[in-house]
Amino acid sequence: MEEIKNLIRKNIAELKPYSSARDEYSGEAMVFLDANENPFNQPYNRYPDPLQRQLKEKIAKIKKVNPENIFLGNGSDEPIDLLNRAFCEPGIDNIISINPTYGMYQVAADINNVEVKKISLNENFDIVADNILNAADKNTKLIFLCSPNNPTGNSLNREEIIKTVKNFNGIVIIDEAYIDFAQSKSLLFEIEEHPNIVILQTFSKAWGMAGIRLGIAFASSEIINVLNKIKYPYNLSILTQKKALELIEKAGDVQEWVKMLVAEREKMAELLNNFHFVEKTFPSDANFLLVKMKNANAVYNYLVEQGIIVRNRSKIHLCNDSLRITIGAANENEILLKALMNFV
Ligand SMILES: *Cc1c(COP(=O)(O)O)cnc(C)c1O
Repeated sequence: MEEIKNLIRKNIAELKPYSSARDEYSGEAMVFLDANENPFNQPYNRYPDPLQRQLKEKIAKIKKVNPENIFLGNGSDEPIDLLNRAFCEPGIDNIISINPTYGMYQVAADINNVEVKKISLNENFDIVADNILNAADKNTKLIFLCSPNNPTGNSLNREEIIKTVKNFNGIVIIDEAYIDFAQSKSLLFEIEEHPNIVILQTFSKAWGMAGIRLGIAFASSEIINVLNKIKYPYNLSILTQKKALELIEKAGDVQEWVKMLVAEREKMAELLNNFHFVEKTFPSDANFLLVKMKNANAVYNYLVEQGIIVRNRSKIHLCNDSLRITIGAANENEILLKALMNFV
């Protein structure tokens, strides 16, 4: 395993980060006259805490990790982008991603002019560690895994993930956006043993907060420090930080939501399989189902006409003739089923 400090791009390692007024003095005071803030229009006149200490402590307690192992971003999008910027030299380095998977890994790499090597999943939508490791060369800095994977819905084989982590001289990112809906256990505590793992989670799915934009990266403090060094100084507004603290207090609801959605998912999988035009509903550990149809495009267009929008994944590798259907509330799922009954 290569040391993290040797993986960081030279200009980033040598970077002197922006030092804000709140970095230089972060305690209590009688008057703050250091940040050129307007004294009126409280509380929105003040800059937010650049390191989101209060929110991180809350999340650390819930997730049973140390605050120094947490990075908070403007959605998961932010750490995905920052990892490219911290570790991949544009035009030289490359990353590996599985195929099919979440589209943002490719987009973030493309924006940063970083080549993406795509490794096909096998016929069970699973990874084979050796296939991934064999594709890595001396310029491969990041491997993006997604478990449960989007759009296939399945969790990836845990032993193959760990084998990849142990045998790769770079950083393995495991995106667990859907982990709360999964039977399989999170790999979060593997960050203690493996300094080259980054676990991504998000408040956008099980927590029901996609609108406030809050993504989490868990990793060794070495990796977290690099991300903090290059992020925008005030990447999370006080609106997001306050609202997250408020909504986390309702954490009891999250368990209820997850339970209901998982029950709906299992019900929907069974009912969808009854339609003559459905070939297969793939097993899902997430809050959506990938459904293979006889003619996905026709079903998709019909549903749009009915005012029901699902995701057409027909053109995606290994997903031909498949629609990705998010599990909604019981009444929403009912509307979908009723519409499908009238599809001829
Ligand atoms: C939905 C999703 C996310 C969430 O992204 P945010 O920017 O946090 O909203 C992350 N990863 C995957 C695989 C997703 O499907």
